Amino acid sequence: MYISVAIDGPAGAGKSTIANIIANKFDLMYINTGSMYRAVTLMALRNNVDFTDVKSVCNLTKSLEMHFEGNSLIVNGEDVTEEIRNTTVSNNVSNYAAIPEIREILVKLQQDMSNKYNVIMDGRDIGTVVLKNSPLKFFLTASPEERAKRRYEELIEKGTSVEYNNILNDIIKRDYIDSNRAVNPLKKACDSIEIDSSKLSINDVIELISNYIEDYIRKCNVN
Ligand code: C5P
Repeated sequence: MYISVAIDGPAGAGKSTIANIIANKFDLMYINTGSMYRAVTLMALRNNVDFTDVKSVCNLTKSLEMHFEGNSLIVNGEDVTEEIRNTTVSNNVSNYAAIPEIREILVKLQQDMSNKYNVIMDGRDIGTVVLKNSPLKFFLTASPEERAKRRYEELIEKGTSVEYNNILNDIIKRDYIDSNRAVNPLKKACDSIEIDSSKLSINDVIELISNYIEDYIRKCNVN
């Protein structure tokens, strides 16, 4: 039996930071599903395939071989980890991620991974769709302003020149598209544990989630 941990939440809630640490702590494979939607978007933009041309986006997606090597995402042999985080991809990804056919392809890939490895996955539809039977589901939130502040500081630290207001607007726009799309919108699963990280440190969140995982492992004796 494989362990699967689901972490959902809006952009900038700290999902990837938390998932990374939990993955190392419990020896789980970390699958950042947002980066898979970003990779499709990057390739579509490079090939001038608009999100309204669903057939071409589907063909393009089917031609992509994606796998994770540690925290790097490799697509058709190319490490795209850095490039998929650029602002052009960020500003367009929600439109590509709203295409039902693309979601179907990527959800299947993600579920295949969870059938082969102990995983922690973060995204928007992990607890509601991809790992809907997982007993360990978390929904991480924080106010839009707090999330924009964190992303701003992260990008500034990397030496990227950005405006706080542009980041805040992108986050608000993405929240809206992700929560209102017809297929697999961002939604808290009814059996998911909600954690508002606005006033919590990373360590507080890690401790909370770790307690649930340790409790589960103890009860099921899965390790
Ligand atoms: O997690 P991240 O912010 O990198 O995700 C980028 C975008 O990918 C999200 O804004 C959302 O549109 C899409 N996404 C999704 N479903 C997921 C993960 C990400 O629709 N499971």
